[in-house]
Amino acid sequence: MDVRNCISCGKPFIFVRVNLCPDCQAAEEEKYERVRVYLRDNPGSSLDETVKNTGVSREDELKMCRTGRIECGIGSSSYLNCIRCGTPIATGSYCAECALDILSKIQDVKEKVAEEIKPGNNRDRNRMYTRPKL
Ligand SMILES: [Zn+2]
Ligand SMILES: [Zn+2]
Repeated sequence: MDVRNCISCGKPFIFVRVNLCPDCQAAEEEKYERVRVYLRDNPGSSLDETVKNTGVSREDELKMCRTGRIECGIGSSSYLNCIRCGTPIATGSYCAECALDILSKIQDVKEKVAEEIKPGNNRDRNRMYTRPKL
C-alpha cells in the first residue's frame, strides 16, 4: 500500500495514480467538469470569460490547459489577449494588427511634432503677423 500526503490538502491517502486524496480529486474533477461543460457550450471562450462563468480559478484552468485536459486554441496556451481589441495572441500585449496601427499612429505623432518644431515654421498661415515696415 502506498500512502502519501495529498499535494492539495496534505491529508494522507492511498496513492493510486494522482497525488491527490479522493476528496481533492473529486473537487478537481468537479471543477474540470464545470469548465468542460462550459467550453462545450461556449467554444472559443477566453480564459477570463471561462473564469467568470464557471467560478473556477484562472490558475486551475491554466493547469487544466497545461495538462491538456481542456482544449487550448490559438494563443490560449498562454491565454493572452490583445489589450486593445481582445484578439487572442501568443505573445506580447497587442495583436499584429493593433501593433501596426499603434506603430503608425506613433509615426504620425512623430511627424507632426517634427513638423511643429521645424525651424521657421512658427509663422502659421492661420495667424496674422505684422509685416516688417518697408
Ligand atoms: Zn486532499
Ligand atoms: Zn488587437
